[in-house]
Amino acid sequence: MAKLLMGKEVSARIKAELKTEVDKLKEKGIVPGLAVIIVGEDPASQVYVRNKERACEECGIYSEKYALPEETTQEELLELINTLNNKTSISGILVQLPVPKHIDEKTIINAIAPNKDVDAFHPVNVGKIMVGNYDFMPCTPAGVMELIKESGVEVSGKECVVVGRSNIVGKPQAMLLLHQNGTVTICHSRTKNLAEKTKNADILVAAVGIPNFIKGDMIKEGAVVIDVGINRLENKKLCGDVEFETAEKVAGAITPVPGGVGPMTVAMLMKNTVKAAIINKSK
Ligand code: NAD
Repeated sequence: MAKLLMGKEVSARIKAELKTEVDKLKEKGIVPGLAVIIVGEDPASQVYVRNKERACEECGIYSEKYALPEETTQEELLELINTLNNKTSISGILVQLPVPKHIDEKTIINAIAPNKDVDAFHPVNVGKIMVGNYDFMPCTPAGVMELIKESGVEVSGKECVVVGRSNIVGKPQAMLLLHQNGTVTICHSRTKNLAEKTKNADILVAAVGIPNFIKGDMIKEGAVVIDVGINRLENKKLCGDVEFETAEKVAGAITPVPGGVGPMTVAMLMKNTVKAAIINKSK
C-alpha cells in the first residue's frame, strides 16, 4: 500500500512555522500583506480566494480582498494593480486566474511589480526560475517539491516525468525538478506512447486536467505519484488526474485529491508573501 502524502498536514506545519516567522517580523516592524484580486463570479475561484484569505489569517498576514464585478474593464484592473504596486502595506499581489475573456491575462501579469508577484507568473520571475536564481518559487510546483521531500525520495538522478506543460504548473515543475538534479521528461497532449514514458518514472507529476487520466498500469512499481489535478465530476465530487484506486496499489507514495497538492499551493503562497515583505522592506 502506498504511503499517503498528506498535503493538508504538511501545509498546516508550514503555516505554523510561518506564523512564528511573521510574529518575529512584526516585532521588527515588518508586516507582510497580501492583496488578492478576483474579477467575476467563477465559483472555483471564489473558493480558492476564500482559502487564501483564511491562510493569511492563520499565518498572521494582513490581507486585502478586491472582489470586482465581471464587467470591470482592463484599464480599471490595471489602475488597481498600479495602486497596489505603490502601496507600502502590500507586499504581494495576486490576481486570481482566469480573468474574464475581455481582459488580457498576459497584460495583467506583466503589470504586477515583479517584487510583489507572489504567484511568480511575471516573465521576470519566470526567467529567474529558469536560471535558478529566484526570489519566488511558483506556488503549485513548489508545493509539489515539498510533498516529494515528504516521501523521503531524493530527486537527484531520478527519472522524473511531468505530464502537462502549462506555464503555471508543468513547465516550472520541470525546472524545479531539474534544479534538484532529476532527469526530467515533459509529456503533453502531442506525446506519443505516453504510458511508456510514465511507466519509466520514479517520480511522476500529473498536471493534465483530465479526471482519472493516469491509471495504475501506467505507473512504475514504487513510484512517487503527485496528482496536481483538481477536476469536478458531474456528481460534484472532486477528483484528480490520477485514478487513485488503481494507482495506490502500484505507487510507493501518492497524494490524495483533495487534501494533497491543493493546500500546499496556498501554503507556498503564504511563504512567498512573507519573502516579499522581507525583500521589499530591505529595498
Ligand atoms: P492546462 O489546461 O493549462 O494544461 C494541461 C496540460 O495537459 C497541457 O499542457 C496539455 O498539453 C496536457 N495534456 C492535455 N491532454 C493531454 C493528454 N491527452 N496527454 C498528455 N498531456 C495532455 O492546465 P493546468 O493549469 O496546468 O492545470 C492542470 C490541472 O491541475 C487542472 O486540473 C487544474 O485544475 C489543476 N491545478 C491544480 C492546482 C493546485 O493547486 N492543486 C493549481 C493549478 C492547477
